[in-house]
Amino acid sequence: MPVTSAAAAAHVRPFGPDVDALRRQDPELAEILFAELERQSDGLQLIAAENFTSPAVLTALGSPLANKYAEGYPGARHHGGCEFVDVAERIAVDRAKALFGAEHANVQPHSGSSAVLAAYAALLRPGDTVLAMGLPFGGHLTHGSPANFSGRWFEFVGYGVDAESGLIDYEQIHALARTHKPKAVVCGSISYPRHIDYGAFRDIADDVGAYLIADAAHPIGLVAGGAAPNPVPYADVVCATTHKVLRGPRGGMVLCGSDLAERIDRAVFPFTQGGAQMHTIAAKAVAFGEAATPAFTTYAHKVVANARVLAEELTARGLVVTTGGTDTHLLTADTGRFGLDARTARGRLAAAGMVLDTCALPHGDVRGLRLGTAAVTTQGMGADEMARIAELFASALHADAEPGRLRTEVRELVRRFPPYPSR
Ligand SMILES: *Cc1c(COP(=O)(O)O)cnc(C)c1O
Repeated sequence: MPVTSAAAAAHVRPFGPDVDALRRQDPELAEILFAELERQSDGLQLIAAENFTSPAVLTALGSPLANKYAEGYPGARHHGGCEFVDVAERIAVDRAKALFGAEHANVQPHSGSSAVLAAYAALLRPGDTVLAMGLPFGGHLTHGSPANFSGRWFEFVGYGVDAESGLIDYEQIHALARTHKPKAVVCGSISYPRHIDYGAFRDIADDVGAYLIADAAHPIGLVAGGAAPNPVPYADVVCATTHKVLRGPRGGMVLCGSDLAERIDRAVFPFTQGGAQMHTIAAKAVAFGEAATPAFTTYAHKVVANARVLAEELTARGLVVTTGGTDTHLLTADTGRFGLDARTARGRLAAAGMVLDTCALPHGDVRGLRLGTAAVTTQGMGADEMARIAELFASALHADAEPGRLRTEVRELVRRFPPYPSR
């Protein structure tokens, strides 16, 4: 790379988190950034879709690549001056392909939803039938919600999970596929805690001549670390986010075989997006580089081990954990035994400093809580801390809970595991 040392010397600190300068220029906004950092550091972040990116990823995000317009693809841009961002995108693409064993990667989708939109745009026409997990069972908005483009433009048929076991019922999906003859079958969920049998989905799709789209937004980080099965060998198209367990910047990507490469690329740009966000793509490259290290493999397995311990410890304290446990970074639980609906439970937990989501539960219209271990594991927590979290969790749900005391105890726990080193 032709970056001279003179150029480097002239820009000793051209970017990065220059918070002092921001504080002088815009104290009002700087205050918000600090308050948010403090909020993230001062409580237990148990939202299954969140994580703490590395300082290296944040540096790429805060770099002057944010200034660059780059419509098109490396070597074929509609704007000049793309010689460096082209290299950044090629590195991101090569790293993604190597990490997941994919023939083709598109790293431009602005989000997970944009990646799914591109997959549909590449493979489907408006009005086509698509078989996906129903939203009441853990399907994503992009899997046919009437409030989303997917539900408006396609005919979605929803499959569920077994009401008793909470597990995917592959025979039910096969029967629905035979009845409805979908053009595509979608596998992937926002709250399913078990591994997905991509081979079984492939067989179902093949039997009815459908495409198989894996929306692996949640488990893709575990896949990178070898802690969950890889959908790439089975699915025609894999959509993913880069900011969940994978620990990269907010964004999406699409992986596919060479046969669909051109259709996917055209579906991302120019069909559904304009200029690529090159700072985010550079940050994706940094995150893929981190995810290829042995340390990340250790991390991914520890995320799952922590989730398993958390599920056991919560069960021991009276929570009903869906499917009886987890294979992944997330688990869902019913708070009914505590006489609490999920919203009230979430509120009590928030008062004690534990941040998480409510989610759909398998048996009908009851909602539960969804927790994930990606963020707390990044902070360095292990089995002992999971047991402690379960204890604090159950205490917060009891009628005689003392939120003030619990808040202090949560604070004492997280203070030992700062997500970012102090300056
Ligand atoms: C998170 C998620 C998405 C969407 O990601 P965004 O970046 O929020 O658009 C799509 N599908 C599934 C299954 C997800 O879990």
